[in-house]
Amino acid sequence: MLDLKYTYLTLPSLFHSLTKPSSFPKPEIFLSNNQLYKKFNLSIRNKDKLLDIILDEKYHEKSFAQAYAGHQFGHFTKLGDGRAIIIGEYLTKINNRVDIQLKGAGITEYSRNGDGKATLRSMLREYLISEAMYYLNIPTSRSLAVIKTGEDIFREAKEDGGLLVRIMKSHIRVGTFEYASYFSSVNDLKKLTYYTIARLCPELKDKENPPLELLNFVMHKQIELVINWMRIGFIHGVMNTDNTSISGESFDYGPCAFINSYDPYKVYSSIDFNGRYSFGNQAKIIKWNIARFAESLLPLINHNKEKSIILAQSVLDKFDEIWREKYYLMMLKKIGINSNKEKLYPLVDDLLYIMKKNNLDFTNTFFSLSYENFKTSNIIINIDFIKWKKRRDHIIRKSNSIKDSMLTMKKSNPIVIPRNNLVHKAIEDAVNGDTALINKLLGLYSNPYKYKDGLDEFMTPPSSDFEKCFQTYCGT
Ligand code: AMP
Ligand code: MG
Repeated sequence: MLDLKYTYLTLPSLFHSLTKPSSFPKPEIFLSNNQLYKKFNLSIRNKDKLLDIILDEKYHEKSFAQAYAGHQFGHFTKLGDGRAIIIGEYLTKINNRVDIQLKGAGITEYSRNGDGKATLRSMLREYLISEAMYYLNIPTSRSLAVIKTGEDIFREAKEDGGLLVRIMKSHIRVGTFEYASYFSSVNDLKKLTYYTIARLCPELKDKENPPLELLNFVMHKQIELVINWMRIGFIHGVMNTDNTSISGESFDYGPCAFINSYDPYKVYSSIDFNGRYSFGNQAKIIKWNIARFAESLLPLINHNKEKSIILAQSVLDKFDEIWREKYYLMMLKKIGINSNKEKLYPLVDDLLYIMKKNNLDFTNTFFSLSYENFKTSNIIINIDFIKWKKRRDHIIRKSNSIKDSMLTMKKSNPIVIPRNNLVHKAIEDAVNGDTALINKLLGLYSNPYKYKDGLDEFMTPPSSDFEKCFQTYCGT
């Protein structure tokens, strides 16, 4: 029997709503994550038992959906889990609390006009990408299993229904705080704040001003996270405040994608017409989202509104400097330099400029540098690049050993990333009953920093025709 806890339900009732998952006609496990069962020492290793937690009412007595709000593409909306239900919190063997959530579990109080369901296709995508992100060393929600529900889902066409069993440190998001600040009393906002601190950063509770510290904590976590996305060429695609976690984990892999040719303006999402969530805009957007978080905490930071604004602003004012320092530190590592001297920053900018001008593949350019192997790229014959590399080699010889430099690059530069064409094909195959490619990719993506023979076909970017047409979609 799985021992579940429900500390979230100690919060006032406006933050959640007890909700049972729908019953499904013929649920069957489609993908399941053995490594994760072991890691969490979950007593549901047996597949039938996993189905139990979805089907068995004894696990649904206190299952609940979370209320939240959020700025979607800049516009404030009341939201909430419209198709996700937390069946409980689980304490892992090292006493870490995680939510176990069923995504696609049916109608909740917050479903608005939606059907509360998810397609098998979209849940397979979330499973594949979230697991790839984990092994790329990005804090992320994890995927325990995808269940084919046996139900037909109606989108543009009839589709198989799917359910994702998702695990995350916590699903509390910036939007949860916005919800509290718009729709609850200051007292309830305070309860949410102190619950969050106790759960995610208990070390802050004895500080002089815990709400202000929480703002600072989340800002740092999110800067780390988004810089990590920039490192691997990841575009989240829908960085609404309701998709910005307080824990600093990436989640909700709807319209996300990985860039191929380097282009800071790149967007894949079918609805991101203005490039709000483009690759290169992610720093600005996370800063904007953190400002919304700061606004919602204002009543707690100081009882005097003006003082509160000054204090919150003093945290936000540090964003640009922290970002710049951490971003260049990360990028310099990608080119093999383990130092963070400001005078080296143009070296990074110049390489990106050359990459953009020559349409160079982001991942493969850095791979070529890490392995001194330029056969996969036309970069080595580019005169700008040759000059750039001479400059960089000179700096490496002066600062650290070539061996250290290679090691640094190999840790920073993944070799295999989920290429859009492969992800697309693997999912198409899987929904048509052939899971060979998705399983192959899950295997490859679990070791993304190590080069070995036979990887080349998985490192090749999609054709430019594919890239021109490829689009991603939200919430399918
Ligand atoms: P997302 O873009 O997936 O983060 O979802 C944004 C909001 O839409 C959240 O409140 C979701 O719960 C809700 N939502 C997405 N798809 C559905 C659906 N099929 N039924 C009900 N609500 C949904
Ligand atoms: Mg979401």
